[in-house]
Amino acid sequence: MDEVTILHADLDAFFASVEQRDDPRLRGRPVIVGGGVVLAASYEARAHGVRGAMGGARARRLCSQAVFVQPRWPAYVEASKAVFEVFDRTTPVVEPLSIDEAFLDARGLEHIAGTPAQIAARLRRDVLEQVGLPITVGVARTKALAKVASAAAKPDGLLVVPADGEIAFLHPLPVERLWGVGPATAAKLRGHGLQTVGQVARTAEAALIQIVGRAAGRHLHAIANNRDPRRVRARRGRRSFGSQSALGRSPTTPEALDAVLVGLADRVTRRMRAAGRAGRTVVLRLRFGDYSRATRSQTLFEAANATEAILAAARTLLAAAMPVIERRGVTLVGITISNLVDGRAVQLALPFEDPTGLVLDAAVDDVRDRFGPTAVTRATQLGRDPGLAAWLPAHAGRPMDPSDTRR
Ligand SMILES: [Mg+2]
Repeated sequence: MDEVTILHADLDAFFASVEQRDDPRLRGRPVIVGGGVVLAASYEARAHGVRGAMGGARARRLCSQAVFVQPRWPAYVEASKAVFEVFDRTTPVVEPLSIDEAFLDARGLEHIAGTPAQIAARLRRDVLEQVGLPITVGVARTKALAKVASAAAKPDGLLVVPADGEIAFLHPLPVERLWGVGPATAAKLRGHGLQTVGQVARTAEAALIQIVGRAAGRHLHAIANNRDPRRVRARRGRRSFGSQSALGRSPTTPEALDAVLVGLADRVTRRMRAAGRAGRTVVLRLRFGDYSRATRSQTLFEAANATEAILAAARTLLAAAMPVIERRGVTLVGITISNLVDGRAVQLALPFEDPTGLVLDAAVDDVRDRFGPTAVTRATQLGRDPGLAAWLPAHAGRPMDPSDTRR
């Protein structure tokens, strides 16, 4: 635990930002999501003192020019999914904390994806470019510090706490900044003259337990003294595998689109095979030239993780979408595989003739892992630059998506 590799990524004013993203008239204006109670307030509204969980009437008094909007849960769920897909493409280990925040572990990715600070900067750019939302990232040696760092860097910020600057960063902060300290705990601490994290750190654990109870006292004493051994834990049972490519604004030919689809199917199924998973539902995600989006899905008769099987379904879905694509243009294509099952069973059921292409896929994965990126390239990708990271060893996870918006 001595490297600065933990990222805490937290969307800024999440619900309000989704509203501002989807309705340009709301941009730059104080936006409050909710009515009777404030579910989220944009930073323009926060500047007037409006806070989450505040009564609507009080919020209106504080900020009379605020625009109140009703929550649109499906839009938030969709945005959250898209952001977590970016997280999943950024580091192999992602631990969700809520609908709009997660820890990511950048350990061991230095040589393939850059330093944790570079990974964090790219994550912020990807979330903005691909989902259209601002996100703040804190980077530190421990989870508690990374969480404090992201809060300190908000909004739309990035803060790295260097290993030799932890106490200098942490101890001057007010007690409310500590992870787990809400208004009630903060009031108790302040009632005993403890205003800053440093003052809490210098208080005996037994005394803290007297003030806030046993569990909270121990927790506070540890994190105020910068002790937090908790690791980032991947969410149990991931629900999908996905990959996407931004295409830019210029018109795309059907051949070029197909090549993109081949690359996506290859990448996503390779990760599924590495993880020993297969899936039944193939989802094609499209973003059109006018920024509208569509998803189309097909459920397979049997779960698959073979490139050819997934690709065939994706091609069918793409063909069905071609009329819309021709009208509106397409700026992003993605494939997501859900309805996951254990993929090892699928491979055991492999027929000898291998009509599924699984044996070939496994061989291709193996060659790439051992001999590097350019050792095997599928025929349709010849002449295209697949990007180095597409062929990274599967066990390294998927730190970057080379054909995505970075160029
Ligand atoms: Mg947030």
